[in-house]
Amino acid sequence: MERKSGRSVPSTKAVRPPDSLREIPLDRNWPSIPALELAYTELEQDEMFPRLPTQKIPHCLEGALAIGQEAAEGLTYDGDLGHWIDRVIHTGVRVRFAQQEPSSSGWVRAQYRPKPPTIEIYRSSLDQLDQFIRKGGFRVREDDLIALHLFHEWFHHLENTRLGRTDSRLPRVVRKRWGPFAFRERLVRLREIAAHAFTQKVMGLSWSPLWLDHLLLLSEKGWSRERIRDHFKHTVHRYRELLRSLEPTQKEDDDET
Ligand SMILES: [Zn+2]
Repeated sequence: MERKSGRSVPSTKAVRPPDSLREIPLDRNWPSIPALELAYTELEQDEMFPRLPTQKIPHCLEGALAIGQEAAEGLTYDGDLGHWIDRVIHTGVRVRFAQQEPSSSGWVRAQYRPKPPTIEIYRSSLDQLDQFIRKGGFRVREDDLIALHLFHEWFHHLENTRLGRTDSRLPRVVRKRWGPFAFRERLVRLREIAAHAFTQKVMGLSWSPLWLDHLLLLSEKGWSRERIRDHFKHTVHRYRELLRSLEPTQKEDDDET
């Protein structure tokens, strides 16, 4: 695998901007959204989502977040990328850097392939994140951006080798019924929710990497901060409405007492 060695370090001694990803106050500069609601937007994009009964949604979301967080227990990234790449390689994965392959499904940051186990990190994604953070007036260590991709994909490897697929550990949806048989399908987006939760916890970030993805996507569409804030608020509202629709009607209980 190749690693960029001659990294240029700014020589400004007077003010040394915090360049560790977890120290950059991104969440002070951009509208935020809680992890659960953010995970909801991810799950909604699952092809099988329309078949998921509403009452199972909170359990799936909380379950996926918990799976990612539990897998991160005892693992901490403190800026030493070399140590972590070695550790990942020792679990039987190859780590490669590549230019992004042309894809019809929009941009891809990185990829995990199980046979043979390979993590591929795309340079274009590192550059895109770096530029986004620079535009906000901050600098970020490239190692941290690499780590952001590495941990996400490594989680998928751990799912394949140790943990079991997140979407197999959580409820599946019925795609088709045929007499007494029910054909069930997994909600693959749950794996993404778990991978982001894992990455966030290992890297000690106060925000989900999925949030960063949303910010990038929306700001590249030309959305203003206000529009993004409204969009997040609307999402939070939609999720609260969903939870409210699941509450048992309190009125009936009150009447009995
Ligand atoms: Zn993923």
